[in-house]
This record gives sequence, structure tokens and C-alpha cells, in this order.
Amino acid sequence: MFRKTKILATLGPACDNETVLPQLIQAGVNCVRINFSHGDAEEHRGRVERVRKAADAQGRPVGILADLQGPKIRIESFADGAVDLEAGQTFTLDTQKAADAGDQAGVALYYEPLLADVTPGSVILVNDGAISLTVTEVTETQIVTRVDLGGRLSGRKGVNLRGGGLSAGGLTEQDIANIDVAADIGADYLAVSFVRNGDDIRKARELLEQAGGSARLCAKIERAEALDCLDDIIEASDAVMVARGDLGVEIGDPELPAVQKRIIARSRELNRLVITATQMMESMIENPTPTRAEVLDVANATLDGTDAVMLSAESAVGAYPVATVTAMGEICAAAERQMATSRSESSVDKHFQKIDEAIAMATMYTSRHMHADAIVALTESGATAMLMSRQDSHIPIYALTQSPATERYLTLCRNVFPVHFKPSVLEGLTPVNEALAHLRQLESIQTGHRALVTKGDFNGPGGTNAMKIVTA
Ligand code: PGA
Ligand code: MN
Repeated sequence: MFRKTKILATLGPACDNETVLPQLIQAGVNCVRINFSHGDAEEHRGRVERVRKAADAQGRPVGILADLQGPKIRIESFADGAVDLEAGQTFTLDTQKAADAGDQAGVALYYEPLLADVTPGSVILVNDGAISLTVTEVTETQIVTRVDLGGRLSGRKGVNLRGGGLSAGGLTEQDIANIDVAADIGADYLAVSFVRNGDDIRKARELLEQAGGSARLCAKIERAEALDCLDDIIEASDAVMVARGDLGVEIGDPELPAVQKRIIARSRELNRLVITATQMMESMIENPTPTRAEVLDVANATLDGTDAVMLSAESAVGAYPVATVTAMGEICAAAERQMATSRSESSVDKHFQKIDEAIAMATMYTSRHMHADAIVALTESGATAMLMSRQDSHIPIYALTQSPATERYLTLCRNVFPVHFKPSVLEGLTPVNEALAHLRQLESIQTGHRALVTKGDFNGPGGTNAMKIVTA
């Protein structure tokens, strides 16, 4: 099945065995997320090893995205495990209370800067917005609140502030340690949580480079203030994630559809990748089929032009991880068939800075005005294929590369199909002829098909300087 939109699946206990993981990849997972919010370094290493083994066995590239937890603020625990909060009651967040002494009157919260981040009237959301508290008083050590939206609350749940404004910094000590782990396991992407601005990404990139990692950086857009400097964040990153969970809590869910469309459109305009995440197939954590609303959500993200759609608990702890991937893939493919490809207006008047970008755009322009069956990029870094994929197209882009890292990078890139390929010589007509022969052998193209091929005269990244129109 031809599917342009990629699937990023979070790994967890539900796929921690030798049978489910290969099935997930078989069902169409392109890239996996290692979530540093749960589990320890050994668990992560084990998962990465199993992914590599399964990917090799099936002869297909599978990317690895390591996701840092970031400064997620959490309450501590309750003596009885949980409490039932009632609307109107008083509930206190207390920086001095014992960690396991939470009760009906309050719970410990050790993030002291929160005392300065809120004032009477601030709205604090706990457990993804399920519990809503309005601040009535702030003392030296406590935040006193009135419960507006009550319900059952158990320990270690996340805390957000409506409208943003938390002073929490970008990278925690734990994140910095995990950057080393990410570099060590050879992650292809490093996702940074609760990014405030481009500097948070630049800092993470610096630390990753010091650790010897070569992952691409992904900024998770999940704070209200990130939306005020979106271009700065996108430009500092290689990819961004519309992290709808925390973002929806901070800005209010009704704002999400417009913000999702804006982030996707802007990322594509700025030649970056974009992932749409959280609760896309949520009901499949427990059910074998998605709700119609979920079908529409995945389809709409596809129509918005996202590079990838993400699964969280659905694949990590759900009862039907493989069925979820299959269903998600079918929804994406069906939505893609409905799409009228429109040329991106922003590129029409654009002045190209680089030769490979000019060749990539010339190729996409040609593919709209002349019949072509395939686009073939002979690429070292993957940049040409990625730049091409920023334009909507129904023609598949095959990225032929001898770099396994480039193959894995491109697993998240919409409409790009990475293929391992090494020409016998680099000069003359041979590389293009061998590339076409290789794609015929894979049955990606057939004899007589027309292909638009891009290549460079010199071997090396960013060297694409030519397009050829050939018949396979
Ligand atoms: P998380 O990020 O799953 O790491 O919280 C995604 C989101 O907030 O939507
Ligand atoms: Mn989040």
C-alpha cells in the first residue's frame, strides 16, 4: 500500500517482546519513539537493540527518536493512593508536605518556582486538564486553590498553567544525562520537551554534539509561549512536534485545530519536518477499532500536510498496538488519495539560497508540468529529498543513499521512500543507470516509466547540482 504519511510509534511494555515489535514494523511503523519519561537507560537500550534487529531482519530502515522528558512538573503522592476532589472545596499544593502524605486537603509539590509563577486567579491544571484549580492565595510555601473541576486524582500527575508562563527552564539535569544516553544509543532524532525558544534547541544541539551524537533535533511545541516565537524554534530545529497533549492544556483545546494547521504549514515553508502527536487513536488503547472522530483526526492531520502521525499509549501500553498501526496507515493512505495537490505559493517567489534547493524545486516544478512516474534523488545527506517533499506531490520520491543514517533520518519525511543503494562507480552514466535498475528490481518502477533523477557531480553532502529526465 502506497502511503506518504509516516507513522511514529512510542515503544513501551506492549511491544517489548520478540513478536509484537516485528509485527509493528511489518504493519508500517516507520520510526519509533523511546520515551525518557518512563523507564531507565537499560530498558531504552534493550528496546533500541530489538528495533535494530527487527529492522535488519525485514530489510527496512526504522528511525529512532529519543524523547527527553523536559521540566514536567508533577504533584507527589497520596497516602491512600488517590482522593476525590469536589468542586468548590479548598485544595493546597504544598512545597513542605511529605511526599506520600497527600490527602483531601492537599498534596506535596516540590517545584518551588511555581509559588512565584502564579497569583490569585491563575488556573492550574492537573492530570492533562482533568482537574482544574483556581489559585486563591499564595503563601511562602503553599499555593491555596479552589477546585473548579473535581474528580479522582492520584499521585505523580502532571501540572500545567493555563496560558503558559511557567518559569521552568528548557533542559533539566535528567535531560542532560539522557542526551548522553541518546548519543550513545545512536538516536536519529532527539526530541526536546517544553521548548520555550530557539535557544533551548541550540543548547540541546550543543550538548548532543559534545556527547558525540548526530541526531536531528525535534522541538516539541507544547507551551503557550513557544507559539510567540515559532519561527525561531522551527529554524533552530530539524523537525517540530505538535505536542497536542500539553499544548492543549496550556492554550485550551478549542485553539488546537488552528494552531496545528499553523505549525504544520510554517514548518513546511521553512523546510522542516513536522509530527502531529497525542491521542490520535486514543480509544484503541482499549478497543480494536478507532472512533470515527479519531479517523477524522488522523485524516485531517494528513490533509494538513503533516510528515508523520504519532502513537503514544496506543502502541506503548495499549491492547491492540498492531491493529492500531494498520488502521492508522489505512486512514492516512485514504486521506492522501483525496488530496488535491496544490503548489506551495510561498516557493513561487522564493529566492533559493542553495544549489540543491534550486534543483529540488526545479524537479518538483517539472513533475507538475510533465508526466513522471517517479522522482529519484541520489543523495548523501538526504537534504534534496527532504526539500522536494516540502511540495505536495502524488509522485513518490525515492531517496537512494549509501548512508544508513540518512535512510533512518528520512523515515519521518512525507512521501520520501529511502532505499539503500551504492553505485559501482561514481562517474558518468553508470550511477543513474544502476539506480534505475535497482528500483526496477525492487518493483518500485517499471520499464518504460519516466523518472526525474537528481544527482551531484561530486560525492558528498549538499552536492546535488543536476536533474536528468530518463526512461527506465
Ligand atoms: P508527551 O508529549 O507525550 O511526552 O507528553 C506529547 C504531548 O504533550 O502531546
Ligand atoms: Mn508533552
